[in-house]
Amino acid sequence: MTAVKPGQKVVLAPGVSCGKCSACLAGNDNRCPQFTNLGYLIDGGCAEFVLCPEVNCCSYPENLSFPEAAAIPLVFQTAWHMLLTRARLEPGEDVLVLAAGSGVGSAAIQIAKFFGCRVIATAGNDAKLGKARELGADELINHRTQNIKEEVRRLTAKRGVDMVFEHVGTATWDDSVASLARCGRLVTCGATTGFDAKIDLRFLFSRQLSILGSYMGTKTELRTVLKLVASGKLKPVLDRTFPLAECRLAHEYLESGSQFGKVVLLPD
Ligand SMILES: [Zn+2]
Repeated sequence: MTAVKPGQKVVLAPGVSCGKCSACLAGNDNRCPQFTNLGYLIDGGCAEFVLCPEVNCCSYPENLSFPEAAAIPLVFQTAWHMLLTRARLEPGEDVLVLAAGSGVGSAAIQIAKFFGCRVIATAGNDAKLGKARELGADELINHRTQNIKEEVRRLTAKRGVDMVFEHVGTATWDDSVASLARCGRLVTCGATTGFDAKIDLRFLFSRQLSILGSYMGTKTELRTVLKLVASGKLKPVLDRTFPLAECRLAHEYLESGSQFGKVVLLPD
């Protein structure tokens, strides 16, 4: 007896877990000791056929094309877990989203705006900043020509932001910490530019800061995201597609960092 029928369109949750441990049974499947992702330690979606547990099949938002639907799960689930579950986003807060052109960055802008927050977004060129604005970012910082920490101070009348959405790592860490308001939270899911980071412990305790790690998200969070996608509240950000046979070119394109949003492979 299965809930998924042959030929049915589905969106796959990227996280695979045991389904039996306490974490899985509590709905915290991304805390399962055996948690992994399609494409990490197990075969993934860079193929014509994918093998995964039935429980990973989620309802398909019919308003989206296949490439658009493929652009949703990993980044929106990750951003949702960071902002809501880990960092407890509150309506109206000031949120600094680093690297607006990244998959998680473009998702975080939309989620924070959905909750009525003021979003300050960073990117490395004006074209990306313009797209961040279209997604709802209220304030923009060009990290190549402006100093993030100083711009945040200016934009918040020296107060700092309630939350920093990090995933860039070494290159932005010092600015990220310095941009936090008193009792601010920094939540991170990555270290794209490096994993070495320092923090002044006097600054950490006297300003009562929180540093939060976050990894992927739960299937329940993805279902929530997909409902908001189906109703048009959240939108996929698709940069471009490549045929599966041009997988190498797609990776080179990603490494060039010129994309805004997701790059999707299509079967030939
Ligand atoms: Zn488990």
